[in-house]
Amino acid sequence: MIDFKKLVSEYKTPLYIYDLDYMSSQYTELKDAFKARKSILCYAVKANSNLSVIRHFAKLGSGADCVSIGEVHRAFLAGIPAYKIIFSGVGKTDDEIRQAIEKDILYINVESEAELSRVEIIAKDLDTTCRISIRVNPNIDPQTHPYISTGLHDNKFGVDLGTAKRMYIKANNSQNLNPVGIHFHIGSQLTELKPIYESAEIVADLVRSLQNLKIQLKFFDVGGGLGIKYKDENLIDTYEYAQAILATLKGLDLTVICEPGRFLTANAGYFVSKVLYEKQNGEKKFLVIDGAMNDLLRPALYSAYHKIEAVTDSKSDVRAVDIVGPVCESGDFFAKDYPLPELSHNDLVVVHSAGAYGFGMGSNYNTRGRSAEVALENGEARLIRKRETFDDLIALEKEFLD
Ligand SMILES: *Cc1c(COP(=O)(O)O)cnc(C)c1O
Repeated sequence: MIDFKKLVSEYKTPLYIYDLDYMSSQYTELKDAFKARKSILCYAVKANSNLSVIRHFAKLGSGADCVSIGEVHRAFLAGIPAYKIIFSGVGKTDDEIRQAIEKDILYINVESEAELSRVEIIAKDLDTTCRISIRVNPNIDPQTHPYISTGLHDNKFGVDLGTAKRMYIKANNSQNLNPVGIHFHIGSQLTELKPIYESAEIVADLVRSLQNLKIQLKFFDVGGGLGIKYKDENLIDTYEYAQAILATLKGLDLTVICEPGRFLTANAGYFVSKVLYEKQNGEKKFLVIDGAMNDLLRPALYSAYHKIEAVTDSKSDVRAVDIVGPVCESGDFFAKDYPLPELSHNDLVVVHSAGAYGFGMGSNYNTRGRSAEVALENGEARLIRKRETFDDLIALEKEFLD
């Protein structure tokens, strides 16, 4: 049991709390599932990019999947070795590509023919060879929320099979490109195994047809996307997940790369807020708390469900309330018609499953400083990011005030 009251008395609210031991157990479970093969788990840094969180995964042997050069720098700072760092993303600037090549990371995940040309030109300019992987869009419906679905042709991600093959042939003939991997990532919060299996089969077949052309890849990158329980979702069993993927690789000598984000961190995280007051507008009851959409955007962005728990001495029955923050937007809510007892000023409200796509999606909207972040490990709590102050928020502007 986490003592939220004690943590709040020390670190104040709003506050993010991450259970690093939970992250370890998720990491180990997934890593073990793949143990029949060589594998690297490359933690998807965007899920929670706090340096201490990345460091924690680095110590467990994890690699990093990064979607900006900033994330690549975070991965290095946190101690992830270059040969376990991947750089993905649909739009990379020349400068990002250059830096990634200079840092000699494992590979760049290329997402279009135009990008392949840019990488080649930049590698040539640097007089070197760049290891690449190509993100294939298998055109499989992942059956998840459309905003987090990425594996269909009407999404912006990856290239179709025919294009991928052309790109591999081009890369293989280039002095400055070394095609080492193949990648797919069909979406996030996946709760069905079938689309993953079907995608892996399609991509593995492409690997075989490349072999026939004497293009020998080393890495089979299955992306991330494993779903977690926010409420009552069906979960993919990690062992079955790994078995399904490995079954498609018969006869192929490939290292499996997996890029979990949410699976490793979401349910390790709690977002804790204080009750400011309750109010009633007509029939509707609102609970106004000191956390807001600038701290945790998922409910506003995707109407995402988060389990919410009150820490209170209240003995009242539960009633349906809308839990809202102070930001001036109607979208600033954590839950609608959520059953909670009557709460008073300074009672705590704990939002669960907040360890992924929580803090990182935060902003300073309404000139609100971002929350502090605290890590729990072996029963000890420690601060891993200070609460932002007003001075932090204006630091880049105040010199221009005439
Ligand atoms: C976001 C992302 C991931 C991680 O997704 P999760 O759903 O958090 O596991 C992995 N790979 C790529 C390329 C991504 O864009």
